[in-house]
Amino acid sequence: MRKFLLGIFHILNGMKTVAIHLFRPAITYEYPEKKSAKSSKFRGRIALCVNESGQLKCTGCGICSKVCPCVDLIKIKGKKDEHGKFVVEDFSVDIGRCIFCGNCESACPQNSIVLTEKYELANISKNNLILNLEELKLSKEESKIIAERKTHNGN
Ligand code: SF4
Ligand code: SF4
Repeated sequence: MRKFLLGIFHILNGMKTVAIHLFRPAITYEYPEKKSAKSSKFRGRIALCVNESGQLKCTGCGICSKVCPCVDLIKIKGKKDEHGKFVVEDFSVDIGRCIFCGNCESACPQNSIVLTEKYELANISKNNLILNLEELKLSKEESKIIAERKTHNGN
């Protein structure tokens, strides 16, 4: 009898919790139709910024690759031009192995490599998660928004 009454008590207690939450505003979102607002410090998909002329800010110094905790995740290829200046010809990031630590963004002397607000990165093939220069390069407008966000965040 005691077990039976205890069971009834737990059922009623559970129903009370359901009834309370039935009339409260939902705190979950109907994803993907609705998405929650992200912090200005959100760290998502890696990208490369361009300057006001649309030129890649990256000078190919390789610092981002050195500070990245994942070996060979960032790969940079290029060559020196006739003035001895290194020109980046390809830049790849294996997003599938990235842990979104932000080390690369913090260390970049050109404010070139950044972590964006994009987070929907699922793909059916791991190889598709290796992004090349064209896939990483942002537009002038996107780069400007990122620069403003970094100024706002004080970094
Ligand atoms: S993204 Fe920044 S740190 Fe990385 S190679 Fe380019 S300039 Fe250097
Ligand atoms: S966020 Fe971290 S793991 Fe990802 S590329 Fe940058 S340094 Fe590497």
